[in-house]
Amino acid sequence: KPRVSARLSAIAESATLAVTAKAKALKAAGRPVIGFGAGEPDFPTPDYVVEAAVAAAKDPVNHRYSPAKGLPELREAIAAKTERDSGYQVSPDDVLVTNGGKQAVYQAFAAILDPGDEVLLPSPYWTTYPEAIALAGAKSVEVFAGADQDYLVTVDQLEAARTEHTKALLFNSPSNPTGSVYSPEQTAAIGRWAHEHGIWVITDEIYEHLVYDDAVFTPIVRAVPELAETTIVLNGVAKTYAMTGWRVGWMIGPSDVIKAATNLQSHLTSNVANVSQRAALAAVSGDLSAVAQMREAFDRRRRTMVDMLAGIDGVTVPTPRGAFYGYPSVEGVLGRTIRGRTPRTSVELAELILVEAEVAVVPGEAFGPSGYLRLSYALGDEDLAEGVRRIQELLG
Ligand code: PLP
Repeated sequence: KPRVSARLSAIAESATLAVTAKAKALKAAGRPVIGFGAGEPDFPTPDYVVEAAVAAAKDPVNHRYSPAKGLPELREAIAAKTERDSGYQVSPDDVLVTNGGKQAVYQAFAAILDPGDEVLLPSPYWTTYPEAIALAGAKSVEVFAGADQDYLVTVDQLEAARTEHTKALLFNSPSNPTGSVYSPEQTAAIGRWAHEHGIWVITDEIYEHLVYDDAVFTPIVRAVPELAETTIVLNGVAKTYAMTGWRVGWMIGPSDVIKAATNLQSHLTSNVANVSQRAALAAVSGDLSAVAQMREAFDRRRRTMVDMLAGIDGVTVPTPRGAFYGYPSVEGVLGRTIRGRTPRTSVELAELILVEAEVAVVPGEAFGPSGYLRLSYALGDEDLAEGVRRIQELLG
């Protein structure tokens, strides 16, 4: 018998982490590496959030276990926040507080999938989705949308991929890795199609507050209210409040599904750290001024990055209108000889960019097909301009 289970052997190493590790090693060796890999805001967590956590750490009530589902005050605040930001009502009983949005992703799939089920996964996709789907014993069916369609899948594409085994659709707008945002009309059309065919929607709304230009975030349940009974909403404080290290997310869904996921969580991790939950309570109960400030900085960097990348021969970059990622197609660069090397895949190109320009980017292979790079613009303005300038110089 194999030592490691087939289920876990099948999980791929996160390519995002691999690039980050390589960049860190180069940095540790004294190289001036500029990193576009990180999927986290470079801002500190707002003071009022940190202060709430300090107070919570001093209160003995938080030194004990709390309900696996989450602190009742926090679940109520999340329900209120959902009404404020998404425009529809949910019961606090249908909210489950999780260890980051990532645990919500895992538990959502675990709660509704059986072996043999298929999940429609728009590609490029965030790295964690296919692994969570596979861990639930189900199969991802990738539906690809390239740069020519702004990385947005159409109802026709989804319909062509639908089979009698299709149980769910993963919907992530604004998107990691592409930064694309579905319009209200596109969101409603996809929602209506899912409802018509009894397909569950797992909607990851963690970048809801990071939209630019004329893009608007459209909660799919507000667009198609009938979907409420077959939709699981995933969200968290990480991106909105610069709280990646605190590990608080949540899932909202129909009572039976939330109950099943809570049972799983009660055996897996019990409650989320109380101090973190109190910090999240302060965050979601407060206003949105902190994210408004971050959005302004991200927006400025986004425009700098896109303008500079667009000037490189062989690079096509749809203007990202959400999250904090640019996703250029580099198909026009592959096969070209650069400093004596000829990269044929985006993994090879990312490696060349790291070695020759000392800039870390994530290759498209981490998110689906080869031929793309993901650059996070959650880094300082000067580093950002210098990093893209080095890429220009290398490829130009
Ligand atoms: N969903 C998406 C699309 C993400 O990009 C991330 C983080 O990178 C998450 C969920 C999970 O974030 P966290 O577990 O830090 O809350």
